[in-house]
Amino acid sequence: MSTLAINGGNRTFAENFQLAPYPNTSAETARQLSELYLNSRAWSYYGEHELKFSQDFAAMQHAAHGVFMANGTVTLECALLALGIGPGDEVIVPAYTWMASASAILYTGATPVFVDCEEDSFCISPKAFEDAISGKTRAVMPVHLFGSMSDLERICTIADKHGIFVVEDAAHAHGGFWQGKGLGSFGQAGSFSFQQSKIMCSGEGGICLTSDQQLFDRMSQLKHIGNAQAAERRHDPVEKNLLCRNYRATEFQALILRGQLQNLAAETRQREQSADYLRERLQNVPGLKIQAKGRLATQQSYYIFALALQPERLKPGVDRDQVIAALQAEGVPEVFAGWAAPAYAHKLWNISADRYRVHSCEVAERLSQKQVVLFALMWLMASRPEQEQLCGAIEKVMWEYAQ
Ligand SMILES: *Cc1c(COP(=O)(O)O)cnc(C)c1O
Repeated sequence: MSTLAINGGNRTFAENFQLAPYPNTSAETARQLSELYLNSRAWSYYGEHELKFSQDFAAMQHAAHGVFMANGTVTLECALLALGIGPGDEVIVPAYTWMASASAILYTGATPVFVDCEEDSFCISPKAFEDAISGKTRAVMPVHLFGSMSDLERICTIADKHGIFVVEDAAHAHGGFWQGKGLGSFGQAGSFSFQQSKIMCSGEGGICLTSDQQLFDRMSQLKHIGNAQAAERRHDPVEKNLLCRNYRATEFQALILRGQLQNLAAETRQREQSADYLRERLQNVPGLKIQAKGRLATQQSYYIFALALQPERLKPGVDRDQVIAALQAEGVPEVFAGWAAPAYAHKLWNISADRYRVHSCEVAERLSQKQVVLFALMWLMASRPEQEQLCGAIEKVMWEYAQ
C-alpha cells in the first residue's frame, strides 16, 4: 500500500491538475448576445428568447407552461403563493436541502415542517412525509437532491390521498425523467434554478413549470407586477389583493439558456454514464456507499456525484474532514462536504424556532453532518482517465482509513 500524500507520500494527481471548467461556452451564443446588446433594446419582458426558452424547457419536462424568473427561490415562492398558501399553513420539506427550499415557504408566511430523508437516495422519506401531515398541511416540496430523485410515485399517492399539493424543487435535476415523465411535471408546479453552479446556468435565473392554466396565469402575474405572460393579454384583470412582484429575468439569460438547452440531452447522458461508471468502479471500496439512483428513475440528471462514508467502517479518529483533507492532499479538486448540516442548522439560517417545525431528522443530520462527500459536476464531465485517477485516489485513501 502506498503512503498517503497527506502523510508525505506521492500525490495521485500532478501539482497543476485542473478539471475543465463548466459550463462550456459557445462562440455562437457570444455572437447572439452581442447582437442582442448592440441591435436591440428589448432586453427584458416580452422578448422572443424568454418566450421560446420557457416553452421549450416546459415541453422538454412534459409540462404545458413555464414561467421564467429571476432565480430558483422566487419560483418556489410564486408557486406556493399561486396555490394560495400563506400564514397558518404548513408545507413539508426535507431537512437535507439547500435553505432556499425552506426560505421560499417562510416568504409566503407559511410554516416549513422539516422531515427526514431516505438513507439511500438522500431524498425526502415518503413515510416521514406522511407521518408529518397535520390538519394545516397544504403542500409538500420534494427536492431531487444532487440529481437523485425523490420517490414521486409514493409522494404523489400520499399527497393525493390527503388532498395536499406537490411542488417539486428540481433545482438539481434539469433534464431528469421519472418513469419516462419529466421532473417538474408531477405535482401542481415544479421549479428549477439557473444559478451559477447549477446544471444549466445563466448566472441567475429560474423557471416554474405547471400544466394548470389558472396557476400559470397567477404565477405569470405574480412575477410581472400583475401583467399576464402573453403581451396581448398584458392587462388582464388581476385578482383582488394578489400582491404581485417584479421577479423578472432578462433576455440575455434566456438566450444563454437556449444555447445550453441544445446540448443538455447529450450532456445528461454523459453525466449519467459517468456516474454509472464511478458507482461500478467504487462499489467494493470499503467505508463508503454511493448515493442511490432514484427508485424508478428513467434518466437521472446528475448534478453532483455524492457518496456517504460509513462511520462504523472508519478507523478510530478518522472522520469526514480527515477523508476530505486526504483526498485534497492527493490533488483531488472539487471535493467538499456540501452543506454540512440540515437546512435548519445551517450557519445562515437565522430563523427563530417558533417559525418552523422539525420532525425527527436523524438520517438527514447524520448524512449531512458526518457522512456525505460530494464531487462537483465537473467530475461527471471529466474524461474516463481522469475519473479513473479519481477512483485511484479514493481507493488509496479509503484502504488506509477504513477497517
Ligand atoms: C440552488 C437551489 C435553489 C434556489 O436557487 P437560486 O436560483 O439560487 O435561488 C433551491 N433549491 C435547491 C435545492 C437549490 O440547490
